[in-house]
Amino acid sequence: MLIVPAAEPPFHSGLAARPQRSVSYAKRQVLNRTAAPRTPARGPHRPAVPETVAQLRRILRFELSKGCDDSAVIGGLDRYLERARADPAVAAVLDSVPRLPRGYRALPAGERRDWIRKALTAQPVRKPAARPAKAASKPQGPAAPPRPDPESSPLDWPASAIKGVRAATAARLAKMGLRTVRDVLYLFPNRHNDFADIRTIAELRPGEEQTCAVQVLQAQIVRLGRMHGTEAKVHDGTGTMRVVWFNQTYLADQLKPDDRIVLSGKVSLFNGLKTMESPEWERLQGEELTHTGRIVPVYPLTQGLSQRVLRRIVKEAVDRFAALVPEALPEDLRGRHRLPGITEALRQMHYPDTMEDYREARRRMAFEELLCVQLAVLDRRLAWQEGRAPVFDTRGVIDVYRSALPFALTGAQERVIGEIARDLSSSRPMARLLQGDVGSGKTAVAGAALVVAAANGYQGAIMAPTEILAEQHYRTLSDLLGRVKFAERRPLRIELLTGSLSGRGRREALRALAAGEVDVAVGTHALIQEGVTFHRLGITIVDEQHRFGVMQRAALRERAANAGYQTPHLLVMSATPIPRTLALTFFGDLDVSVIDELPPGRQPVETRWVPPGERREAYDFIRSQVRDGRQAFIVCPLVEESQALQTKAATREYEMLSREVFPDLRLALLHGRMPSAEKDRVLRDFRDRKYDILVATTVIEVGIDIPNATVMLVDGADRFGLAQLHQLRGRVGRGAGQSYCLLLAEEPSDAARERLQVLERTSDGFELAEADLRLRGPGDYFGTRQSGLPEFQAADFSDIRLIETARQEARAILDLDPGLQLPEHAILATAVARAKRIVTGEVS
Ligand code: ADP
Ligand code: MG
Repeated sequence: MLIVPAAEPPFHSGLAARPQRSVSYAKRQVLNRTAAPRTPARGPHRPAVPETVAQLRRILRFELSKGCDDSAVIGGLDRYLERARADPAVAAVLDSVPRLPRGYRALPAGERRDWIRKALTAQPVRKPAARPAKAASKPQGPAAPPRPDPESSPLDWPASAIKGVRAATAARLAKMGLRTVRDVLYLFPNRHNDFADIRTIAELRPGEEQTCAVQVLQAQIVRLGRMHGTEAKVHDGTGTMRVVWFNQTYLADQLKPDDRIVLSGKVSLFNGLKTMESPEWERLQGEELTHTGRIVPVYPLTQGLSQRVLRRIVKEAVDRFAALVPEALPEDLRGRHRLPGITEALRQMHYPDTMEDYREARRRMAFEELLCVQLAVLDRRLAWQEGRAPVFDTRGVIDVYRSALPFALTGAQERVIGEIARDLSSSRPMARLLQGDVGSGKTAVAGAALVVAAANGYQGAIMAPTEILAEQHYRTLSDLLGRVKFAERRPLRIELLTGSLSGRGRREALRALAAGEVDVAVGTHALIQEGVTFHRLGITIVDEQHRFGVMQRAALRERAANAGYQTPHLLVMSATPIPRTLALTFFGDLDVSVIDELPPGRQPVETRWVPPGERREAYDFIRSQVRDGRQAFIVCPLVEESQALQTKAATREYEMLSREVFPDLRLALLHGRMPSAEKDRVLRDFRDRKYDILVATTVIEVGIDIPNATVMLVDGADRFGLAQLHQLRGRVGRGAGQSYCLLLAEEPSDAARERLQVLERTSDGFELAEADLRLRGPGDYFGTRQSGLPEFQAADFSDIRLIETARQEARAILDLDPGLQLPEHAILATAVARAKRIVTGEVS
């Protein structure tokens, strides 16, 4: 890792290899450190710590969720797997999937995905030595279900321990990520069908979510605007209704005349006819009728597992195992907040007596999740701040910096620099999140912090997510810091260290860094992995742009905290406005500074929703801008399913635009599956005006600065989250020219149109963030896929009160029992350990 003082050997990227820590781990570490300093003889490759298969799976699932771009573990999956293999259980799993002679990295993305899926569903090849000879001589077929291990908690038993779950079913459950009894118990329903409140079509009221049981008259594929979909006519004794599902044309085959189904969704009026748009639906069969009068859970489905089968499995699990789940919440706390006990809550989560009972149960589960995350986050903060950071003298330094700048700092920049300067003059390590909208001038603020460190004889490191962004920082900071002159000091030296730097240049840069001749190192995350040695690192700045990189941050800080006698200060910069509830939840370990003011003279980007039928005009507009010497971005519609499909769609769009729309202009294509060197080349050439139009997927979201680009056209804008659209819009309006953001959306739903209108109205990122969180929820806001943001099972980000209550309780608990060592906190401590893995981004 980057944070390595000269005395320590380079670090080998150990986040994944880190042992699972108890809550008081960091504390003990500090004690250990003073009692028995580690020997410097320890090599860069520490002996592998025990790995668990669970951890392996979490990482593989995380990799899968990130689109298989080999970013789940710092240092790459191959190195991780090599180390993890030291654990026999992990080796058994890896031995039961195809070997990768050239490594994971060398696989094409599609095969990566397949390989991970195999590894996730693998039945480990057991080492015979682990069993008594007799058992070993009786070979177990690979299809035999795993037996429960009587020594482990029943909750950790494989799902096949649930009555009625055979190998084939267990495999299907595994596809949904459900491997243990606990997983099944915590598979919370998406919603419930209230069979106690089934309405007739005549009773349905427009505008409300309702359930009704009907019979299909006919179903067929229809055109719905530009899309296709299924339209069905249904009836009951009291009337007829129209039902439409966008895109899901296969439903036309599945729904046959006279089929009895239950529909659940919002009712509207269409030409006077009651209509349900994309309702949840389910077949009504004989058995189901026995459920009449009760509230039935509706689970997320997987292929081959029907709602009924899943219901039966969960019911068995709840009946037999819910009573065995230990209570993590102390009794007095439950009493204070009137939270039901865990067993009761689990029962009511699945089969509530009334919807009110369900809400109570859900509130309890949410509270526990939030409390655990808060405890994990606060504990991290405590651990971090046990370190000692260098104390910097800031007097005068900022004045020198300010007067050297080519512009006057904004009030917000001044305030934030003041907050940072206060942190830097204390030995408590700074852990600060700097939030500021795109273009708000975060780099100038970072420059101030770097200058303070340098003036005090320390080094600074600033990291960007891509090479081209690192180069951009390097240019900006060279310009800003190059102007700063201290009377008694040599000029500041700043070095760019990226993957493209090689050979002698690289060796020289590394030497100068280790010798302390370099004041500021600018680089990418990739470079961190290669063991760069600093002379005296005083501050690390991470520019995450919109990505959270929770994981990198955690690794960075772990490493920093373990590095030696001094912990560098840490500043994380983010251009994604993070609503308060989210900040409290996931960034509670950081202090937050906000730049809420743009430098003067910025023209807001003119934003417009382009309705269906005006696509031509939008293209003509781009053409006229190009004629005026400007450049444009065209972002392709989002394809959620996979990167491969997204790439294909983008390539097709690029070809179509090149051939049919702009044959006379110079177009380039940029997508996520291009090698990063190629991406950088395209962006560089675009910046150097070798192209007029850049056709891209959302990879251009990350803060690239191309002042000559004045048009951002987003195709299929209704499929993006507001935050994403705002980020995309931020790619233009960075130069002198008036810029435009065109949002193409055919047939947007009411909700989507509302979102686009918010975007037309305001350019304030925070306002947008709050609006979108309200309209769509956090997953959509950030685009779950890229955000790395863990998902809650029961908690809801919009419940600020509950989040704040959980935070207060977490504080109170830690005040009383900082290490969670009291017996009454034992179970809570285990739950927190689980949450901690979520907070560090080892998302399961
Ligand atoms: P971001 O917050 O998106 O990283 P940058 O730091 O890249 O923003 O700043 C955007 C542009 O604004 C840069 O060209 C920078 O030089 C300029 N800038 C920053 N602060 C000011 C200021 N106070 N007055 C005028 N221009 C500024
Ligand atoms: Mg920036």
